[in-house]
Amino acid sequence: IKNMTTTLKQALKTHFGFDDFRSKKQEDVVKAVVRRDKDVFVCMPTGAGKSLCYQLPALLAEGITLVVSPLIALIQDQVDRLKSLNIPACSINSKLAAGERRLILTDLGSSSPKLKLLYITPEMVASPSFQPHLTDLCSRGLLSYLAVDEAHCVSQWGHDFRPDYLKLGRLRALTPGVPCLALTATAPKNVQDDIVRTLGLSSPLSFVTPVFRSNLHYDVIFRELLPNPYAHLHDFIKKALALDTRQGCGIVYCRTREGCETVAYQLTKLGVLAKAYHAGLKGGDRTEVQNEWMQGKVLVIVATISFGMGVDKANVRFVAHWNLAKSLASYYQESGRAGRDGLPSSCRTYYSPKDRDQMNFLIRQEVGRRQAKRGTEKETDKTAITDFEAMVSFCVQESCRHATISKFFGDKTPNCAGACDYCRNPKVVRAQLERAATLSTK
Ligand code: ADP
Ligand code: MG
Ligand code: ZN
Repeated sequence: IKNMTTTLKQALKTHFGFDDFRSKKQEDVVKAVVRRDKDVFVCMPTGAGKSLCYQLPALLAEGITLVVSPLIALIQDQVDRLKSLNIPACSINSKLAAGERRLILTDLGSSSPKLKLLYITPEMVASPSFQPHLTDLCSRGLLSYLAVDEAHCVSQWGHDFRPDYLKLGRLRALTPGVPCLALTATAPKNVQDDIVRTLGLSSPLSFVTPVFRSNLHYDVIFRELLPNPYAHLHDFIKKALALDTRQGCGIVYCRTREGCETVAYQLTKLGVLAKAYHAGLKGGDRTEVQNEWMQGKVLVIVATISFGMGVDKANVRFVAHWNLAKSLASYYQESGRAGRDGLPSSCRTYYSPKDRDQMNFLIRQEVGRRQAKRGTEKETDKTAITDFEAMVSFCVQESCRHATISKFFGDKTPNCAGACDYCRNPKVVRAQLERAATLSTK
């Protein structure tokens, strides 16, 4: 095993220029893949370095690794990066010129192909003109791995369902004995089950980053019960920022532009410099607000959900949702932008039944629009609705918030140890629900 570690680290340095693995988990996955005796399922957050988990084994194996990825843009990005490292990689897709395509197919047909990584879209997998090339490679023992990136696309329950991903089951049947590696960043339990079933993974080794983050404190406040909601939010922000002896910052999420403007204005009036960030701002202004926040000149950014994708800031001390997130999975993602440095941080949702009804209306309207366009109903239409219901339950349940999230993602119940309002004091949660109930019957 020591030998294997040395070999892998050397290859990591030679081919990719990295001194070490990103994490113990990345190393463990690579080792499991290299062993080739089992299928592997990987669920790790974005940026964890999942691509390397098949790229490195691909280089060490004899033959070609087939990588399925949903978008030509994603594929191009990866292929360019590999080529710049002098790694023989390419892609066959609908946009490819006939000449280039022929060159690749000739290489595939040769007795020792030069190619190491072949990227294709799921549409290509299904193409009858391409399949014979794969079965041919496989029968000559030259197909080393099948890697399925963004594997959540196989699931109707996921947000990026791609019908062509369902054909990957057939591909597996056509390529017996080729180990399969499925990778994704987000997979609630039902999506994980779909992946395993559709790709026919047989008792796969699973590498799943636990959902539970003990440094995040979750709570829910019923907004309608507050005499002054803005003062309440301001108070929360003051306390959250005081947790950090250096300077921390935070995010408030709102659904609408007007909401962002109002909250930013009210907070600033109360003495915390806050700025709005939403699609209604000019591009330049938006970048400026984001930069000011990144540099700590503005402590609080009040944003629609379009903010935060790809933003990686360590000292986010709180994430507050002034409006409900559209699903529990989105909520986990958005609130998870807090506490990346591992220090205590707060995640709060301001719940309101009015807000809930509005969201419900909007979601059903959207589903209706999609159905009208299509002329049929689909199982996936229900997903948006059930996903939002999970978010509402999270807010109105009398149970540990961390446990609800972990359960949703198929993890076992974590040891919350007071890191949510319910575990800290269930009576407070009960009292809030009771007050809300009397309010709604009045
Ligand atoms: P994911 O698919 O999990 O979102 P990527 O595979 O795109 O992540 O990798 C994210 C970044 O991390 C890439 O820039 C990649 O080059 C880098 N990376 C991966 N592994 C390592 C490593 N062992 N050391 C340093 N950087 C790494
Ligand atoms: Mg990736
Ligand atoms: Zn708890």
